[in-house]
Amino acid sequence: MLVDSHAHIDTPRFNVDREAVIQAAFEGGVTRIVDPGCDLASSRFALSLAKAHPGVVFAAAGTHPHDATTYTDEVGLHYREMAREPEVVAIGEFGLDYFRMLSPRDVQRAVFGAHLQLARDCNLPCIIHVRDSHDDVIELLRAHGQGLRGVFHCFSGNVKQAEECLEFDGFMLSFAGTLTRQGNALPEVARMAPLDRILVETDSPYLVPQPSRTKRNEPLFVKHVAEKLAQIRGMSCKEIAQVTASNAARLFGLGE
Ligand SMILES: [Zn+2]
Repeated sequence: MLVDSHAHIDTPRFNVDREAVIQAAFEGGVTRIVDPGCDLASSRFALSLAKAHPGVVFAAAGTHPHDATTYTDEVGLHYREMAREPEVVAIGEFGLDYFRMLSPRDVQRAVFGAHLQLARDCNLPCIIHVRDSHDDVIELLRAHGQGLRGVFHCFSGNVKQAEECLEFDGFMLSFAGTLTRQGNALPEVARMAPLDRILVETDSPYLVPQPSRTKRNEPLFVKHVAEKLAQIRGMSCKEIAQVTASNAARLFGLGE
């Protein structure tokens, strides 16, 4: 049993075959999928998918840093309401993206703070997106994130950055298809991270893992990430699947 801890199956790229994609994942052993929202509309859609697939699809409510300018207090109130639904298991995804910088830096930082507050008030874990923004994320978490829990999704940093992230007791690192690519520090990070603090994800429809040759990623392919992680850790794929699934269940409260 595998958990894809981060897949945007609500996006239009799954409109033609969404049910088949969820079914294929389930039959392939990916029995749970967490779908984080990127804005109010996608968070709502993720929630509707979760309601339609109880115990299989779970939703998170939040505004992606790319869309940070769409976040308002009113949007925050809607997230707060949605967080009462049992299918909403996290606040996110939110974060800072200074690589694409599609929203101004100060707006991203303010919206980041608002989401930390939401996570605190709703007692939910955070799903955090970090791209070329590690130092700011750590600074904001140190100032406003004490006692919170969550995940650094699609972790892409080096060992030193991973250590800084892991200083936040309640946080885990999630590995995506980037782990299967050459030329980054991720294998080293995957080797040093404590077993009880790692997750796997696809970030579908983005980040196609090797050796898949398709253009679109989907939750079933999380098995490639698990295989790579197992190889790096010298464990069986089954063990990695069990460990990461139980970490995800514990972090997001997915039940047995
Ligand atoms: Zn994402």
